[in-house]
Amino acid sequence: MPDRLKISIKGAVQGVGFRPFIFKLAKTLDIKGYVLNSPQGVTIEAEGNKDILEEFILRINNDKPPISLIQNISIEKFESTGYKDFIIKKSETNGIPNAIVLPDIATCKDCLTDIFDIKNRRYLYPFTNCTNCGPRYSIIESLPYDRARTTMKIFEMCEDCGFEYRNPEDRRFHTQPNACPECGPHVELWDANGKILTTHLEAILETVYNIIKGKIIAIKGLGGFHLVVDAGNDEAIQRLRKAKNREEKPLALMYPDLKTIKRDCELSNEEQILLTSAQSPIVILKKLSGCKISESVAPGNPNLGVMLPYTPLHHILLHYLQIPIVATSGNLSEEPMCIDEYDALLRLKNIAKYFLVHNRPIYRHVDDSIARIILNEKVILRRARGYAPFPVIINNKSKKTIMSVGGHLKNTIAVSKGNGVFVSQHIGDLETKESYNSFCNTINKFKEIYKIENEIVVHDSHPEYISTKYAKENFPSAENVQHHVAHILSVIAENSLSGNLLGIAWDGAGFGDDKTIWGGEFFRFKPEGYERIAHLKNFRLVGGESSFKDIYKCAFGVLYEIYGKEILNSGFYNSENEISKTDADIYLKMLNKNINSPECSSAGRLFDAVASILNIRQKVNFEGQAAMELEFLINGVVTDESYNFEINKNENGTFIINWIPIIQNIINDKKNKLSLNLISAKFHNTLINTIVEIAKLVNEKIIALSGGCFQNKYLLENSIKALQKEGFNVYWNKEVPANDGGISLGQIAYFSYFENK
Ligand code: ZN
Ligand code: ZN
Ligand code: FE
Repeated sequence: MPDRLKISIKGAVQGVGFRPFIFKLAKTLDIKGYVLNSPQGVTIEAEGNKDILEEFILRINNDKPPISLIQNISIEKFESTGYKDFIIKKSETNGIPNAIVLPDIATCKDCLTDIFDIKNRRYLYPFTNCTNCGPRYSIIESLPYDRARTTMKIFEMCEDCGFEYRNPEDRRFHTQPNACPECGPHVELWDANGKILTTHLEAILETVYNIIKGKIIAIKGLGGFHLVVDAGNDEAIQRLRKAKNREEKPLALMYPDLKTIKRDCELSNEEQILLTSAQSPIVILKKLSGCKISESVAPGNPNLGVMLPYTPLHHILLHYLQIPIVATSGNLSEEPMCIDEYDALLRLKNIAKYFLVHNRPIYRHVDDSIARIILNEKVILRRARGYAPFPVIINNKSKKTIMSVGGHLKNTIAVSKGNGVFVSQHIGDLETKESYNSFCNTINKFKEIYKIENEIVVHDSHPEYISTKYAKENFPSAENVQHHVAHILSVIAENSLSGNLLGIAWDGAGFGDDKTIWGGEFFRFKPEGYERIAHLKNFRLVGGESSFKDIYKCAFGVLYEIYGKEILNSGFYNSENEISKTDADIYLKMLNKNINSPECSSAGRLFDAVASILNIRQKVNFEGQAAMELEFLINGVVTDESYNFEINKNENGTFIINWIPIIQNIINDKKNKLSLNLISAKFHNTLINTIVEIAKLVNEKIIALSGGCFQNKYLLENSIKALQKEGFNVYWNKEVPANDGGISLGQIAYFSYFENK
């Protein structure tokens, strides 16, 4: 007697060729029944004899499509009903969606072959895709994933495409964005007034010509617009920087192929795998000495952010160009990137000369992701295209539906459903109206797609963050989680850690539980609660948040701890470091009278202070710039020399890392004309020593490292190595950023790690 199984699969099983895979497998094994997409995932009914059904389940697990992810399979047994055939049924639309929305996937090898085969009907067609590749998250409006619920609904498939779509033997069977030159989207080249200059292949070739001519082109891609120029043309890059109001921040590059990358950058095996993965992120690579890329791409930076073409449009463009291009987000400064061609015309008309656009609407913006290899493993620094909104699976014992609104800079939001936490794509710094709108939009679209209601809402404890205000206004019962606690919880979440541990959170700034600015924090985490067990010695930030940009104000606060009122005679305040005697007088008065000079324990600000004291720079254009330059100074220096420091205990029993001896020695080394490279290496080594010392004092076996400072490769790698050498089990962020992009995940994990939550 044949059995009938009802198999429900949850996970990333829609839009990855899962139904066609099941269909083919069922046919091969002569199983009868059906498969369909449901809001929860994929449902299968399978009839056949017991052995064959067992093999069926086994092969679903083993042979599933490469980009699918099975979170859970549940199987119920029934009497057979005598199905005659195996069919793909119409999607079910009722029920609470629990299915995973897939990320956008880089063009696969088979599609590339089609695009560059002159005999293929998709020859040089920029919107070619299949069940294994193409747009997903950027075009999906709602679940379940079907063409009618994507922005491809406006294109009716031609006869040939329809045949592929319906043919179970075809690679494009049920490929929702299936398209060809006959029926699909097309590209157009516009001038800055929106006048169509040319279309189709001609538009791409004209774009190539203009890039070579040094023009700035806005190109509509997968999840938004890029601004593109020739990466070898210094003048064009400077022009782009000026127009975009992005003075020094590194710009991303797109290379034609691996061979060209190898000419300019060091490339390990792991980096190569990451570059060519289905996610196709920007990968941070080390420049080679003979690198041909203009210095203006990443001034003073030994690294380059490099990606490969990830859509057919990019492949075709780079195929004709054969040179690397700058491909930076199509936006002004820190605003969200443009996704609509008319919005792009409006916002980018003073930057770009031409606009290469297309008529496939982008439903939501998805930036390029950024990743790098740390100790042979991938670490994500910006989580967007290719990764978002794939869930991070956590041990969620609370089972509550939670929405978190993240932090302020590099914002992301997240929602949890069961054990899955869906972290949004990178939204950005919530500094402008545009980014705030994008934040609200992302929340609304997340709530809509995941059908979220009656959720618990969590925000940062900083009362002035826009995200906090949003949460409080819209959800009066919203709860808050301390910023650095959330950083540590993000590591706990992605590594499913439990029990006692030491969390080390180092970053620029976050609102502390004692209302001072924190950022050099050590917490003992226990399921019953957390304790701030150690931190960097406090100093004061003259001018409050203005010191985040004017880093000499951080140095002033640090030196005040050493020299007190004698600071003006310390020899620091002269023309060399851009502070006039008058300003110095004012700062001293502010400190003496405690006017607008809040206390902080921030590691990031200590980095800034050291950079200023060494006169590497006195102002920064973006968060972390001075710290990055300090790190880059170490390049090539190998030393285990370090400075002395003290660990004191305050009246509450908290360990205080006293950095005064460190700064005094740095000042001495500078006076003695020791190279800045060596001073920086010694400073970094000292910080690593402080981490190890505290770890030994606290003596918890498990250590979690997080916060923006741990984007510093030297600091992260050497802290991990030093702690491991002492026998600690060290964890750090890999799936979500160590910077504030990981805060939303941590805020959600607050309810699963701590008891009584
Ligand atoms: Zn493909
Ligand atoms: Zn077609
Ligand atoms: Fe932070």
